[in-house]
Amino acid sequence: MSIKMVYFFGNGRAEGNASMRNLLGGKGANLAEMTNLGLPVPPGFTITTQVCKMYYENNKKFPQGLWEEVLKNLKKLEEATGKKFADRKNPLLVSVRSGAPVSMPGMMDTILNLGLNDETVKGLAEATNNERFAYDAYRRFIQMFGNVVMGIDHGKFEEILEAKKKEKGYKYDTDLTAEDLKDLICKYKDLIKKETGREFPQDPYKQLEMAIKAVFDSWNNERAIKYREIHGIPDDMGTAVNVVAMVFGNMGDDSGTGVAFTRDPNTGENVFYGEYLKNAQGEDVVAGIRTPEPISKLKEEMPQVYDELLKVRDILEKHYKDMQDIEFTIEKGKLYLLQTRSGKRTAKAAVKIAVDMAKEGLINKKEAIKRISPKEIDQLLHPQLSPIAKKKAKNEGRLFAKGLPASPGAAVGKVVFSADEAVKLAEQGEKVILVRHETSPEDIHGMHVAQGILTSRGGMTSHAAVVARGMGKVCIVGAEDIEIDYKNKCMKVGDKIVKEGDVISLDGSTGEIFVGEIECIDAEFTPEFKELMTWCDEFRKLQVRVNADTPEDAQKGREFGAEGIGLCRTEHMFFDEERIPVVREMILAQTSEERRKALEKLLPFQKEDFKAIFRVMDGLPVNIRLLDPPLHEFLPKTEKEFEDTAKYLGLPIEEVKRRAESLQEANPMLGLRGCRLGIVYPEIYEMQARAILEAAVEVTKEGVQVFPEIMLPLIANDKELKILRDLIEKVAQEVFEKYGHKVNFQIGTMVEVPRAAVTADKIAKYAEYFSFGTNDLTQMTYGISRDDAGKFVNVYKEKGIFEEDPFVTIDVDGVGKLIEMAKTLGEKVRPNIKTGICGEHGGDPKSIFFFHKIKITYVSPSPYRVPIARLAAAKAAILEEEGLL
Ligand code: PEP
Ligand code: MG
Repeated sequence: MSIKMVYFFGNGRAEGNASMRNLLGGKGANLAEMTNLGLPVPPGFTITTQVCKMYYENNKKFPQGLWEEVLKNLKKLEEATGKKFADRKNPLLVSVRSGAPVSMPGMMDTILNLGLNDETVKGLAEATNNERFAYDAYRRFIQMFGNVVMGIDHGKFEEILEAKKKEKGYKYDTDLTAEDLKDLICKYKDLIKKETGREFPQDPYKQLEMAIKAVFDSWNNERAIKYREIHGIPDDMGTAVNVVAMVFGNMGDDSGTGVAFTRDPNTGENVFYGEYLKNAQGEDVVAGIRTPEPISKLKEEMPQVYDELLKVRDILEKHYKDMQDIEFTIEKGKLYLLQTRSGKRTAKAAVKIAVDMAKEGLINKKEAIKRISPKEIDQLLHPQLSPIAKKKAKNEGRLFAKGLPASPGAAVGKVVFSADEAVKLAEQGEKVILVRHETSPEDIHGMHVAQGILTSRGGMTSHAAVVARGMGKVCIVGAEDIEIDYKNKCMKVGDKIVKEGDVISLDGSTGEIFVGEIECIDAEFTPEFKELMTWCDEFRKLQVRVNADTPEDAQKGREFGAEGIGLCRTEHMFFDEERIPVVREMILAQTSEERRKALEKLLPFQKEDFKAIFRVMDGLPVNIRLLDPPLHEFLPKTEKEFEDTAKYLGLPIEEVKRRAESLQEANPMLGLRGCRLGIVYPEIYEMQARAILEAAVEVTKEGVQVFPEIMLPLIANDKELKILRDLIEKVAQEVFEKYGHKVNFQIGTMVEVPRAAVTADKIAKYAEYFSFGTNDLTQMTYGISRDDAGKFVNVYKEKGIFEEDPFVTIDVDGVGKLIEMAKTLGEKVRPNIKTGICGEHGGDPKSIFFFHKIKITYVSPSPYRVPIARLAAAKAAILEEEGLL
């Protein structure tokens, strides 16, 4: 059976349509669709993507029968236009353009004005009564053909052109006369001969054959391959080739060319938006020689054409049910549409357009939700570096390095290499970027005042990444190319050096680091965004909480729609200037008695912390995790800190150092941390439990509704949990007796050690809920340190071992299986056991799809990811309903 290789469109009828995108490419399918809609499209034909594939399978030769098909369609084109290809009197000229199923802007090649040669150019001059126009078209054609088809550097043609303009003293290309152009044409032809040893082909049929091949070849040019790699487009899709009758926008003042969007692509407003240039071809717009006029000007200059365009706008939007980006040309007062596609838009516009279209009844709410990507929500919530300014900076060689995009947004500030310096400068009103090899809890004060955080080490769940996300700060981690020299207060990449005090700009959404200041675009909380979020809530099944350690974060999370706190880490509360000496006293205590004394001093602080959070979360559950990190993280590090601690404790400095040393561990992340602290030093957890419950009772008396949940970290064995549960229950009894008032609370556990997941049935006996700490669970399941993963995750990705960084997107086969297993085991003991995700995966859309599928109760991301989680959870529910999950 012979396959159909070429699809014709013209005179109101097309053989193809919009649903044939894979076969005809986006451009070809839409040209066919527009033709069928009765819109004014110049006639033409599309050679299918399948032919492209056959061309490659056939050793880059046309498959049998293709050329005959092309000739047949060329005949039809002649009939449709009333012109003849290769005719000396009234020649048919065509454009030859690529068009893949997925838009790859500017990646492949285009040839315009094909069919011109030394003879047909005369015919064109006569038919148009415009010699200059005809020779300019011929000149442009040779230049494009020489470059795209015959492989000559574009710059070489430009050199000849510039030399000519210089010789004549012209400023613009438009100053060139017909005689100048004829001379240029000779010089271009000489260049082609000299460079390729071949003549510029005079036979239009030969030109067409070569051009079609060149478009097929461009599918595999370097930039197209790279583009596909970046955007995950399969290499075997192939491109279609569109051969379309030329129309000219440069035939006088009743002609022109332009680009229009059916709505404003920047704001999303429902207004016709675009630009056009009178008496010009598309490439003039791109070349920037003349500044295009706003489309509203067309209304004054060619009112009928403008009205027709408005009708087109209406038809296209109603038909495609999305904002369209159209290219048009006006030839002697007649409008032609050369392309339509779904228009690129800013995040703000995307949300407004989706919400407006749903309200207009063009699409439904589910469709509106499906159209918005998590990335767009992210962009809406954070200021961004201006894409234009970024491009310019790249051209100027100001891209310093690239790291992992750990927390999105834009940050511009002066580089500092220590948290103390950050605070000092911030107090002077400076904006700073804190740069460290990695951060630790001691850097919190610096992180807090910094605009952004940059580390040369660490992965997506390193301390810097987790804390920055929590704070909603811009953060780039694992920028391994950067060498940081703390001593000389500078950092370098190759021979580029940035010193303390120099300004840098971070793009936390891409991981790019720029030298110098880059302009920012502000975040905007539009009413449409809020409305879209409430629509998400109508469909989602997963609840969304927030990870918050402070009343500010809790407030932010609540504003973003969180339904409770899923994880309140308590360790950061200990780093306060006033508390740290007491914390050190507690840690360095030699007896339980001494420790208790210090803890008593900490209790009122902790109680106030919890009260403040409970007040903000009035009416919603708050899940507080008892102390988790190894104690030595709180110990003094610098000589000065040791001195201060010794003084505070009234001990010789040597003794303080000795005690501190005895707390050091070879492998602290697997050492005395999490619930092991509570087992070894029960008084610590006892104090925290007391602080939580007393806070709960006290705010209840203020009229605040509290639902405290007390969570134990790093449980691996049910006996650990039993002991700690008994401890908390004992404290609860004492507190309730003391106040003569009781509050309901729950005790739950983190599931973040594989053993806990495997023995979840035993553990569930003592836990009212499981909260999966997927950061540690991933670390321990893979045996990969979350702080060191950044060094090799990329290699693993390149080698195809990891499809995604498992610290970003849940490893469904391994970690995911453990979660599912733990949930099932837990449900055997407690059928309705509540399950949450409080690791970083709780804010990752792909992971959220998985959590929806296995019916987790809630996810709990950092505040700025709450809206993303709401969207992802809604999408998961909608896709499942449609059988697509
Ligand atoms: C986790 O391990 O996933 C978790 C939430 O705890 P942390 O990140 O504090 O170790
Ligand atoms: Mg953990």
